[in-house]
Amino acid sequence: MTESATLQSAGVRDEAFAILARLGVPERALAGAGLAASSPITGEVITHVGATSPAQASVAIGRAASAFNSWRSVPAPRRGEFVRLLAEELRTAKDDLGLLVTLETGKILSEGRGEVQEMIDICDFAVGLSRQLYGRTIATERANHRMMETWHPLGVCGVISAFNFPVAVWSWNAALAFVCGDPVVWKPSEKTPLTALATQALLERAAHRFGDVPAGLFELLIGDRELGEILVDDRRVAVVSATGSTAMGRAVGPRLAARFARAILELGGNNAAIVARSADLDLAVRAIAFAAMGTAGQRCTTLRRLFVHDSVYDRLVPRLKQVYASAKVGDPRLADTLIGPLIDARAFDGMQRALAEVRDAGGVVHGGNRIDGIGGDRAFYVCPVLCEMPDQVGPVLRETFAPILYVMRYRELDEAIRLHNAVGAGLSSCIFTLDMREAERFLSTTGSDCGIANVNIGPSGAEIGGAFGGEKETGGGREAGSDAWKAYMRRATNTINFGTELPLAQGVRFDV
Ligand code: NAD
Repeated sequence: MTESATLQSAGVRDEAFAILARLGVPERALAGAGLAASSPITGEVITHVGATSPAQASVAIGRAASAFNSWRSVPAPRRGEFVRLLAEELRTAKDDLGLLVTLETGKILSEGRGEVQEMIDICDFAVGLSRQLYGRTIATERANHRMMETWHPLGVCGVISAFNFPVAVWSWNAALAFVCGDPVVWKPSEKTPLTALATQALLERAAHRFGDVPAGLFELLIGDRELGEILVDDRRVAVVSATGSTAMGRAVGPRLAARFARAILELGGNNAAIVARSADLDLAVRAIAFAAMGTAGQRCTTLRRLFVHDSVYDRLVPRLKQVYASAKVGDPRLADTLIGPLIDARAFDGMQRALAEVRDAGGVVHGGNRIDGIGGDRAFYVCPVLCEMPDQVGPVLRETFAPILYVMRYRELDEAIRLHNAVGAGLSSCIFTLDMREAERFLSTTGSDCGIANVNIGPSGAEIGGAFGGEKETGGGREAGSDAWKAYMRRATNTINFGTELPLAQGVRFDV
């Protein structure tokens, strides 16, 4: 390690410990052996955190199941008050928790803070929702009857989350689950235990101010996939929201189905943009740059495939190459850094393998090399990379969690949409066009097949007001806004007879 890397490394550890202390994480949680908590900024181990044993996990799920018995009877607006207090704690802790996200994931500071803002936003949304868990009254075919829908708490909600949004994804689920009457048992990524512990400490503060939160309303399981499997297989867990790779979803989905538990699967993406002939190229360049390079390509909604109309290709692609060459890669804590490190060596190896496949497939690679001299030997900083591809083949068809953008030409919109939809994932998508027919076609039934489809903005950076999620190998789950809350509740259809006759539906007669 160089001297500057050593200095930087000491900085990471000290900063992390100071934040954890300010946020109220108990020292015992950070003691001794257990799971290593690392920072991709330097690749060093910050500390070890106590891991949850399978037996402890089972006890925690049991506590959550008991909490359900009382929490479900707390009026929903009162449950919302707990989430409102959590939002207050998050507002106070925004800078600290945002920096901790940066230290643990390597995303730049504004994105780290943005992640906490997203938590605040979903809490605010959930507080309003706590007075709006509406059912419908439905016209009935029988005289003197009323038919209606009511929504009831479902049960314990398990949340399994990925490293790249270590706390926001939990909050999309937890804020809704709490107001819906469900306790939450959280298994965060094994790569990000510190932000999870910090969030748990903020929950404790909110619970203390709230007063009578039942023990077990929020439980945390620190560990790897085995703990996730325990959560998935436990019959006391009514719904599991699992965010991560499609490979994880392939393992988790059938296990949940086997016990008829509800699944919310939020899996990998292979998101694309179409840049049409009429596109505003200035706007497209900015949007593409953020969507493809931001978070070092480690968002589920990262832009990975770019279809450029033949007539604008030679104007757009040279500009993109310039932007790529000038984007600052470096320590994510510095104000002028746009791209931080990859999460670990495995991510770097995966990126290099994909680039080798690109070359074998006849693609031209611009960038992608490792940048030495930042963060020391155990940190992985890379130049973002543009790959000009002859076809949509090989690695273009799958998600590689790194800042690789595959660029391809097209001539007809039909062809671009066909290629756009010809991959396994179905998360997010967009078109850059000023042609109303093209925009509407892209959003129509015969357009993008993704859960998110945008016009003149990139595929990443969704707001919490809309339902978030994707189709096909992205898993089909929806979280966050709109009516995603319904996945955390049980629907009952009620029919009430306030007359003296007993008419049967469909005119059936059964006179006794
Ligand atoms: P990952 O699949 O390696 O791990 C995600 C989580 O699943 C971790 O907590 C892990 O311990 C757990 N897990 C893994 N296998 C499991 C199993 N068999 N049973 C139970 N739990 C298991 O993903 P990652 O590398 O942390 O995150 C990156 C991936 O997540 C990317 O594919 C990205 O697209 C995806 N992601 C999707 C969304 C979305 O909303 N669609 C959001 C963020 C990330």
